[in-house]
Amino acid sequence: MKKMIAEDTDIKVEKIAQSRISQVDFDNIKFGKEFSDHMFVMDYIDGEWQDMRIMPFQNLTLNPAVSVIHYGQSIFEGMKAYRNESDDVYLFRPEMNIKRFNVSAERLCMPQVPENVFEEALVKLLDMDREWIPQSDSASLYIRPFMFATDEYIGVRPSESYRFMIFTCPVGSYYSGAVKVKVERHYTRSTPGGTGFAKAAGNYAGALYPAQQAKAKGYDQLIWTDAIEHKYIEESGTMNIVFKSGNKILSPKPSETILAGITRDSVMQLAKDWGYDVEERRISLDELREMLEKGELDEAFGAGTAATIAPIKTIGFEDQDFDLSSYDKWEFAPRAFKELEALKRGNGEDVHQWNMKF
Ligand SMILES: *Cc1c(COP(=O)(O)O)cnc(C)c1O
Repeated sequence: MKKMIAEDTDIKVEKIAQSRISQVDFDNIKFGKEFSDHMFVMDYIDGEWQDMRIMPFQNLTLNPAVSVIHYGQSIFEGMKAYRNESDDVYLFRPEMNIKRFNVSAERLCMPQVPENVFEEALVKLLDMDREWIPQSDSASLYIRPFMFATDEYIGVRPSESYRFMIFTCPVGSYYSGAVKVKVERHYTRSTPGGTGFAKAAGNYAGALYPAQQAKAKGYDQLIWTDAIEHKYIEESGTMNIVFKSGNKILSPKPSETILAGITRDSVMQLAKDWGYDVEERRISLDELREMLEKGELDEAFGAGTAATIAPIKTIGFEDQDFDLSSYDKWEFAPRAFKELEALKRGNGEDVHQWNMKF
């Protein structure tokens, strides 16, 4: 197991006068609405990161012309921390989030965040708000690193100044039942040459309307298809998608239009470890429909940090809905879910060295 050691940095610390933790009902946490005591902040000015600080979670004051509001130069990450009974804190493959953040930054013309600074900010912040990390089999601490453009200028050009921040929220188990998804053949989330591989804020804004249309028709989520032909499967909502058919585990390969999810990558590795035939490739709607018609699609699920695994119960095409067997009869997704949830809390054998502990 890798150990993450916070080195001495120039991070200034201002502690909250009185922790808010006693006001939180940890048995009924609303996703994304409770914020831990502290946040990390630093500013990119004159070509360098400055003024690294941890301070009480609080509102921002912004000039109305600040360019992120107008042109959306903004990126984010999503990760989770876990704490076991021995008070060890675990992060699951955090180096992947840090790398991906910098991939997103490059696409949006934003500065790189040095990996060691990102890591130290994470460790220091989490260490200070250790008590906020639930010690539970189902709950965890959701971590939201993000960066946005702060030039006070309404011309369209890359900003020269940026703010990078991290705040955290304790979250309960996300599971809210298997989802009904609709294959989307008109709207697109992501196009070749676009920003779909980045966690860029605008991608999510653009996906709201199509998702709302699907909700009005009784679906929970969309299955996105490629922008050119609307023939190949890309993702499900804001998660990657994985299918099981017989001994095969299938998933569209991450690309310029398909975000490279860390959960998906881990699930596919487990599938390999467990002897499934793993296929990461283009999957057409015709192929999916044929599997459904022949009763050969055993399992289908979304994979992402928030839910880990979100089982799909119904897949809707324009003319027909297909139901899958119920989750309690599935073999792979429940096993992958259990294994990942255990590994992330330091239980089980971490053969791939996925965890960082401190
Ligand atoms: C964040 C995200 C995912 C899942 O990535 P994880 O690293 O598994 O959390 C998948 N698709 C999209 C579009 C995303 O934004």
